[in-house]
Amino acid sequence: MNKIFRNVFVVLLAFSIIACSKVPITGRKQLKLLPDSMMKEMGQTNYAAFLKENPAVSPPTRQSVEVTTVGTRISQAVEKYLKDNGMSKKIEGYKWEFNVVDSKEVNAWCMPGGKVVVYTGILPLTKDNAGLAVVMGHEIAHAIADHGNERMSQELAVQAAGIGLSVYMQQNPKQTNDIFMSAFGVGSQLGMLAYSRQHELEADKLGLVFMSMAGYNPERAVSFWQEMAKAGGNKPPELLSTHPSDDRRIAQIQAYLPEAKKYYVVNTGN
Ligand SMILES: [Zn+2]
Repeated sequence: MNKIFRNVFVVLLAFSIIACSKVPITGRKQLKLLPDSMMKEMGQTNYAAFLKENPAVSPPTRQSVEVTTVGTRISQAVEKYLKDNGMSKKIEGYKWEFNVVDSKEVNAWCMPGGKVVVYTGILPLTKDNAGLAVVMGHEIAHAIADHGNERMSQELAVQAAGIGLSVYMQQNPKQTNDIFMSAFGVGSQLGMLAYSRQHELEADKLGLVFMSMAGYNPERAVSFWQEMAKAGGNKPPELLSTHPSDDRRIAQIQAYLPEAKKYYVVNTGN
């Protein structure tokens, strides 16, 4: 991990101009202080380390095949959309991976670089491929919208106040990595850096579009979130949030459905 920060040090020195970019589809302007290359490298390193400690389900099960199928469909649709709209750079160097980890934890996440984990604990709630597409579309949306970079930038700006971002990261590689992990809802620091309400609602919107483009009816998101609301305390850590409230989330999804359906391609396969 130290090597990453040393490499990044030089980049950051040249990176003194604050990066301002736009989120695809919503067009929201965002502030990112960290180079995308660093986020992807951290995604790759932490993904490998996570899978070493939490081995993926193997040999492939029906469920892991479904996760790979749905994930591949969504990632291909997202790549096509970004390419068609001149935003391929967003996913430059992405090497998509979809793994299922056997765990009671009701969780799923996607790290930069396209590194996805779905826990078996969430599968009774997703039920079918379209339900899986709701969750995976949402998680992939967090990655494509660079929410992790925004969250880390905010947290690091506080931690590194006075000494500068690059110096802080060089001197505190472990803390920097902990901030990365918690920004993606991995590990035990639940909610420490939980995505903001704005990020959650944005990931819901993008997720609806992504699942639609991949051929899954976005209406499935309404029934999924209604069931999640009923499940109450049993919400996935990443999706666990006191805000947005279930009602508000479902209301926004319903309001956004007509827009999302413009992207809907009827899926004749699986
Ligand atoms: Zn989320």
